[in-house]
Amino acid sequence: MHEFSVMQGVVSAVLSALEGRSYDKVVSVKLVVGELTFLAKEQLRFAFHVLTEGTDLEGASIDIITKKAVVRCEKCGYRGGLRVDDDPRYHYALPVFLCPKCGGCVEIVEGKECFVESVVLEKEE
Ligand SMILES: [Zn+2]
Repeated sequence: MHEFSVMQGVVSAVLSALEGRSYDKVVSVKLVVGELTFLAKEQLRFAFHVLTEGTDLEGASIDIITKKAVVRCEKCGYRGGLRVDDDPRYHYALPVFLCPKCGGCVEIVEGKECFVESVVLEKEE
């Protein structure tokens, strides 16, 4: 499962960022995931709970924020979101990376990222 390997990277990045810091508990981790990564939120959440077992992150909650895709068209200069047809037949299809205005090829500006935005720590005084 792709989600597991992605989450493995996230968990080890967070754990190494926490090294040397003083805290009692990790409350939550906020993860930003681009729409075009096609990562399933539920799978990511599940992977997080499995992979953090026995680590300092065990018991922390995970917030997953989906970031909309932004594309740029070389031909007409359009910059914005991809058009997603809300037709149930298309729900399992990959979006077509064409300009919604002129049909030209677009370059993906945002939407393929996956990064940890913040980690909330708790320290008892
Ligand atoms: Zn265009």
